[in-house]
Amino acid sequence: MPYIPSSITQPKTPLQAMPDYSQMQTPCYLYDLALLRETLDIASRSARQYNYQIHYALKANNNPALTTLISSYGMGADCVSGNEVAEALRIGFPAKEVVFAGVGKSDSEIQLALKEDILCINCESLEELIVTEEIARNMQKAAPVAIRINPGVEAKTHKYITTGLDENKFGVHLSQIQEVLDFASQSPWLKLMGLHFHIGSQITSMEPFEKLAHRVNELWTTLEMDKRGGILLNLGGGLGVNYQDPTGDPIAPFDEYFGVFAKNLKVPSHVKVRFELGRSLVAQCGKIITRVLYTKKGINRDFVITDAGMTELMRPALYQSKHHITNLTSELPEQIYDVVGPICESSDVFAKDISLPSTSRGHILAIHTCGAYSESMMLHYNMRDKAGFVLV
Ligand SMILES: *Cc1c(COP(=O)(O)O)cnc(C)c1O
Repeated sequence: MPYIPSSITQPKTPLQAMPDYSQMQTPCYLYDLALLRETLDIASRSARQYNYQIHYALKANNNPALTTLISSYGMGADCVSGNEVAEALRIGFPAKEVVFAGVGKSDSEIQLALKEDILCINCESLEELIVTEEIARNMQKAAPVAIRINPGVEAKTHKYITTGLDENKFGVHLSQIQEVLDFASQSPWLKLMGLHFHIGSQITSMEPFEKLAHRVNELWTTLEMDKRGGILLNLGGGLGVNYQDPTGDPIAPFDEYFGVFAKNLKVPSHVKVRFELGRSLVAQCGKIITRVLYTKKGINRDFVITDAGMTELMRPALYQSKHHITNLTSELPEQIYDVVGPICESSDVFAKDISLPSTSRGHILAIHTCGAYSESMMLHYNMRDKAGFVLV
């Protein structure tokens, strides 16, 4: 069932020059399109130096105001559901630049991908490959596939967003890869395009990426990918952003990131190298604007209760992420607060023991770095209205 939003708070989305926070319907997502453009400029310029292609991971944020702009940069799309594939095509991403990953693709999702002639399905298991072959045979159309390998590289990030370690639901384990590749190479209904990797998200050190590059070099050779006709190497995403200092450091280190691969990757020059970036492209351009409903004294702490909750920003509850929070309407001396949402869950907490200017009912707070995995993770829990968005 698609999530059908309440019509009560359906956003009007005028492009505002300077938002008047006091008039704003809250909670809402506020997107800074100038910052998004600057980020996209830098990322695409940086990738182009090495002839790398960037695919935008739609699951980070599928707001059409953002995806339309992103597609205008000539980027491809990285999708993890049939609906995302359909949405990417609707927005205007070219089918030949769309890839489709996920451990649990349904038959109809695979059919859609084949019907739309997307670039490649990233297969995550032998059984998925067998099903894909059968669907392709029924449709009399060879399926382009890349095999997602779980390379056993530690991403050094939260355990819920690390995906490349040995015992993990994502990807094919190294011990089974030969069998899977042989199946793909030998079937007339599968066209083996190459290999796919994605080791995790919010990775803030270059070391895991360097290790990934070395592992890929090794695998491309030992798995005889040239002999198998491999022409595609998809290295996934995962580049992290600065959640502590979003204003001082608003753009992810794209030069450094692509540079690590340019320096360390050794695959033949006809192999097209692709990346799937989500968070690093959109996280910093979004904020949540929320109104303080109440303040309340606990025994040892003061609570600020906001009208935004885990329904608008699930990340802290889901994987203990920390977002920088500022008070846009107070310049009083600072105090220590816990900032919490209104949802009936104890995990609905945005921040503990943070310093804010003295805060009271009616003040407006900004929760920073909410352009990725925030609006796209919105929940209907507690029958909450769907939050709108504003573009500046
Ligand atoms: C989520 C995801 C991405 C994007 O990850 P980011 O950390 O947002 O860059 C890329 N590839 C795959 C397969 C994903 O599932």
